Amino acid sequence: MTRAWGISVAVFCIILAGLLGCADRRSDLRCEPGLVRSCACPGGLEGIQPCAADGSRWLGCQGCGARNAGFGTVAALGPGGGTGGAGPTDPGNLIPNAALSVPGPERDAPAGWTFNRWGRSAAKGTWLESGGVSGGGALRVEVSRHGDGDAKWHFRRVRLAGDAWYSYSDFHRSDGRSRMVLSCRRGSDGVVSYRNIWQSEASAAWRREEVRFYLGPAADCEATIFHLVDRTGFLETSLAALVPVEPRPLARPLVSLAFDDGWKSAVTTARADLEERGFTGSYYLVKSFIGDPGGRYASAADLRALLAASRKGHEIGSHTAYHHLLGSLSAPLRRQELRENLDWLRGLGVTGAGLAYPFGDFDDRVGVEARALHPYARTSFDGLNDAATDRYRITVLPVTAGTETAEILARIDDAVRTSTWLVLLFHDVGAPDPADPYRTSTTQFTAVLDRLAEGDAAVVTVAAALKEIGEQAAPVR
Ligand SMILES: [Zn+2]
Repeated sequence: MTRAWGISVAVFCIILAGLLGCADRRSDLRCEPGLVRSCACPGGLEGIQPCAADGSRWLGCQGCGARNAGFGTVAALGPGGGTGGAGPTDPGNLIPNAALSVPGPERDAPAGWTFNRWGRSAAKGTWLESGGVSGGGALRVEVSRHGDGDAKWHFRRVRLAGDAWYSYSDFHRSDGRSRMVLSCRRGSDGVVSYRNIWQSEASAAWRREEVRFYLGPAADCEATIFHLVDRTGFLETSLAALVPVEPRPLARPLVSLAFDDGWKSAVTTARADLEERGFTGSYYLVKSFIGDPGGRYASAADLRALLAASRKGHEIGSHTAYHHLLGSLSAPLRRQELRENLDWLRGLGVTGAGLAYPFGDFDDRVGVEARALHPYARTSFDGLNDAATDRYRITVLPVTAGTETAEILARIDDAVRTSTWLVLLFHDVGAPDPADPYRTSTTQFTAVLDRLAEGDAAVVTVAAALKEIGEQAAPVR
């Protein structure tokens, strides 16, 4: 256990002591279901320990284990450990000089790699020639002062073929959360686009993250991945790999229509639009938003109508009680955010509610609590879901006022072509409003529903999609 982890556990225990009694060395410990606390894994990595569902004991330390994809599946590697997945010398790895062993012309950066920063911040990038996994190279980003913008190392763009799946992975050590962004530069006109595809967590030991993504047939993409730092702190990365991977199709293409926050338009007129076409939607509600004085969100009467409609197939999920950033809350408040909304939903007769993270914000601890309380969790990361998808890292196409209709229709085509599952995430629907970035125009919404009415993909709720995927041969992790 590092000193920092030790301090955080100690502070956590002091907070807990007042609430529950933090007698973590006693064998007869009791705890509150849903609560999690830090614990030490063998080798010094920090893990997370949830309370048993019946409150009788703390369960074993989680997050220390061997798998390598997502939160709660940590690969902890000391020097000399294995790498898993593609390595820097893997012939399938598309990243040039992934081993970071060849110096560039300036000799302060590896060949094919560039350090870049933008915004009001102070940041520096360092090439550590032997500071990486197994004594290989690593790249360090250190942001000493952050106002806005970000800093990152990135590899020279590589041309990716369309209609193909790829996996990006790397190992990292850091003191906070970092984002992974797929940047595509169009070969035809040089226009650059960005997609938030995943994130990494604080980790004192080397930890591997992997994310799969699909590029449609029309993709004209010279790609690089920004594993970036947009906060004060550091990130080191090593053994980056970008490789084509096999598709993991579902038995049939699926599309889900998700609506966050309980906007009035979503639960009234948009719901009517769905029902007109025989569709059902997934509505993620926030207790404290219902009946707001401004009338932007569902009224009590709208809620009653939605509850009645849910008996005909619509899904109601949780979006927490007060819509706070879950990753920024203390453990007791975080737990309250989740449980209070769940209790409220149960009081309305809604059981087994899935979770949509407010602002898409989560971290390891939030992920463990989500697993303890909810049958699934939906992120706001951009991507298609396939048979390899973890039900606690469901991805979406976030639709905002800036999303082009053609982009949504192309993504539906992608899901149909690849037999995968697309979750379209909406908020407010109505006449365009420049002041409301979360409003989807009725025209666009209608165009999407009309496309779906052609029947190439089954329109099902998120819960129904997970049930269907779970029943297939390739289990959802
Ligand atoms: Zn929201």
